[in-house]
Parts: sequence; structure tokens; C-alpha cells
Amino acid sequence: KKITPKKDKYVIASDSTFAPFEFQNTDGEYVGIDVDLINRIAEMQGFNIEMNYIGFSSAIQAVESDQVDGVIAGMTITDDRQKKFDFSEPYFQSGIQIAVAEDNNDITSYEDLKGKTVAAKIGTESADFLETNEATYGYKIKYLDTTDAMHSALEVGAVDAFMDDYPITDYGINQGKKIKTPIAREEGGSYGFAVKKGQNPELVAMFNEGLAELKRTGEYDEIVGAYLGKED
Ligand code: GLN
Repeated sequence: KKITPKKDKYVIASDSTFAPFEFQNTDGEYVGIDVDLINRIAEMQGFNIEMNYIGFSSAIQAVESDQVDGVIAGMTITDDRQKKFDFSEPYFQSGIQIAVAEDNNDITSYEDLKGKTVAAKIGTESADFLETNEATYGYKIKYLDTTDAMHSALEVGAVDAFMDDYPITDYGINQGKKIKTPIAREEGGSYGFAVKKGQNPELVAMFNEGLAELKRTGEYDEIVGAYLGKED
């Protein structure tokens, strides 16, 4: 079904370092699952986009304050967010998990985080989870802006652990990051493309049409497989 765009160009905000969903390749170009999905959907549905890789909490704020039209940033569809945003159909099932340095053998449960410092990205599901359980487990939360900053903080010992979406952490481990995930992950929600509530309904409709088409043709699996390998 053909939906007509209402704007000459839609500005889409995204995270800055969230491999394999959005990250810069060795040529400095942004690539990733979110990047490929939105580009292919825009192409197939016939609308123009400009991408702004400004970081997760900045992206959320930019949509809320009408500075951009939409956000694709591995953003989990949650009840709370549905009060402020309209989401597309879910496009990827995710979850969150604690990561520690590869040579850390002290932390094997949430109880072991007592007195430790745990990093999370501002405004994320992981930050919410850590806030909810802070009193129970007695850790301190350190808020950072990006996944890269969490990796660096762990590397230099500025934090004892961080919490992030597990596909991102697993991808990092596969890429040789010296981290591990000793605590079972928390089942999370699915990622969705989002617009401000009540705004740009045609953009969400076009995203959904394009996503359905990519799934129908198998191209969705090709895109995800190109970054994650075969799903099991
Ligand atoms: N999926 C998580 C959330 O929505 C994290 C997203 C991100 O860091 N880009 O909160």
C-alpha cells in the first residue's frame, strides 16, 4: 500500500554508538541494523530522511521537543514511553544484562554488586532497572552518555559493571571486547521506531508498510543476519 509522505524530508534521530544497530564503520560511515532498515524503508516507501546520530537520551528529547520527526535507536517499546510516543510494529526482540570485565570473578549475582558502581546510559531501560533495584542490592549508579563510554569506564576501572541491551554487549564480546556477562539477562521488550504522540502518523504507517515488505521478501532477515549472523 502506498502512503504519501507529508514532508519533503523527515529528520530521524538515533544513538551514536550502539553496534550492531548504529555505529561508524572504519570509513566513518554509519552502518547497522537500524540504519539499513530505515534507509531501505525510506527508499521503498518513497520518502526522504536525514539522520542525526546524537545519542540515545538526546534523540528521545529531540523527538519530544519537536526538533526531529522520529527516532530509531534500538528503542524499547514500554508502557511508560507509549504515553509520550507512538511506536511502529516491533522490529527486534531484546533484553538487558549486566556486563563486567573479563577478569572479574567477584561478581556472579546481583547480590555481589553491593557497594559497587554500575554504569548505565541515561534514560534507558537498563537505567530504569538499576534505579528500581538500587536499594535492594546496594550498588551505586553512574550515568554515562554512550555505550562506548561505559566500555571505557569499565576498562579503566571507573565502574565495576555496566548494564546495556544484551545484543549490544554480545556483539562487543564477539568483536573482542574484554568483557563477560555472568548474570542471566532480564527479558526486555522489543525495539520500535517512534514518533512523538500524535505527530507524523504517516511516517509510522510508512515504516510499518516497509517493515512488513522487508519481512515478506526476506530482506529483513538478510539485514539482521549480516550483522548478527544466523539467529538461533
Ligand atoms: N533498548 C534500550 C532502551 O530503549 C536502550 C536503547 C539504547 O541505548 N539505544 O532504553
